[in-house]
Amino acid sequence: MGKFDYKGLGLRCGLEIHQQLNTKKLFCECLSVLRSDEPDFTVKRKLHAVAGESGEIDIAARYQASLEKNFIYQGYDDTTCLVELDEAPPREINRDALKIAVQVALLLNCKIIPITQIMRKTVIDGSNTSGFQRTVLIARDGYVETAYGKIGIESVCLEEDSARIISGKNNEVTYRLDRLGIPLIEIATSPNIFNPDAAKEVALHIGNVLRSCDVRRGIGTIRQDVNMSLMKFGGTRIEIKGVQEPALIIKTINSEIGRESKEKKKIEPQVRKALESGETEFLRPMPGASRMYPETDLPLLRIKKEFIDEVKRSLPKLRSEIAEELKHYGLHEELIKLILKEDKIDEFKELAGIVKNPEIVAKALVLYPRELASKNNLSEEKINELLNKDILASLLEAVAEKKISEGQVKEAMEKIAGGKELEEALKFEEHDFDKIEEKIINLIREKPGLSPNAYMGLLMKELKGKIDAKSLMEVINRHLK
Ligand SMILES: [Zn+2]
Repeated sequence: MGKFDYKGLGLRCGLEIHQQLNTKKLFCECLSVLRSDEPDFTVKRKLHAVAGESGEIDIAARYQASLEKNFIYQGYDDTTCLVELDEAPPREINRDALKIAVQVALLLNCKIIPITQIMRKTVIDGSNTSGFQRTVLIARDGYVETAYGKIGIESVCLEEDSARIISGKNNEVTYRLDRLGIPLIEIATSPNIFNPDAAKEVALHIGNVLRSCDVRRGIGTIRQDVNMSLMKFGGTRIEIKGVQEPALIIKTINSEIGRESKEKKKIEPQVRKALESGETEFLRPMPGASRMYPETDLPLLRIKKEFIDEVKRSLPKLRSEIAEELKHYGLHEELIKLILKEDKIDEFKELAGIVKNPEIVAKALVLYPRELASKNNLSEEKINELLNKDILASLLEAVAEKKISEGQVKEAMEKIAGGKELEEALKFEEHDFDKIEEKIINLIREKPGLSPNAYMGLLMKELKGKIDAKSLMEVINRHLK
């Protein structure tokens, strides 16, 4: 799709990003894990929350309709408690989650709110057993720098995730309680983003900040919504839910511009769902503003200066900064990406002290385990257990002490992945190296006058895994002299 004249169209958009945090639940001690095993119990409920003092017809109507529905909640004895079931009051807010929210807020240049009230936001679709979602404003008035100037960050909130829907028939909806209460950070930018490239850049920057902190990873752990309006077509607010990744933001905005420019009638405010293709589809009419009222079961939340100062002192480095740092080791970009993806920065730095070649360290840490896992049909957990940091340290020490060559590291790892003990895995035929040298001498004798690279090419196939390219080249050059 071609580019549009965004200025002429009067495009205005803002982003809302939700990210799950990697801590226990926000208002109880349960673990934040999504489960696929059979639930231990189910509970059947009718909505029992009192609707807020709603003046708006759509909310009231939907509320009436939801009263007729049965909601079934599935739970587990060990990872859901009475708080998720709304049969016990919430516990004090999780300090780890609060710390991460303050980290994110500071990294986004926001002002932390020293005394803040935990609020209840009415939710009537049954995805919260209580009929409301708890949310608390942590910070506001931040910004991110982009190539298009400063873009404001309006607010950083901490809130509880909803229960996830398992199935829904006419008058009965089944939810699983495992997701209910998982801490979510909600970041809202100002609506003053005027072109899709800037929106993408802001989303990437926020993603970079989030992944520098202790957040959950993987599908469904981050959700990005785009709010947009086009002055040329009346400036109607359209909310697009669930854009999968920053790269799709531009496509999604462009396809909404395409849709609105084709529309014959007046554009209605609405919530649309982002599709993987970049297209969107109608989800529901725009609801009125959510009703919020104070959470009376919890005291005011005080975020003390000492707490903020402590967070400031231990602010995590941004992933972009870490990537720069890893470049100084001379690592290939793909290896840097893998180290960041698998969150093995500290392990890498530690192991890089053992041998002089950072590349073999990175490969042993993030590349070979992947290859061996798929080759041996092992899970990620199993391979990490077999090839843990201590094992890798021992292998690299063996390289440093010249007991094995760099080229033998992968083979040794493969033996361990295949069930051998470390000591066994480090045993290679003693005369291997002599034999290699003999082969090289014979080859040079048989085919004299070739370039070192040509000898490399002839030998590498046969010797692959027995010796690394660098050492082989050294031996060839030595004998050519
Ligand atoms: Zn719980």
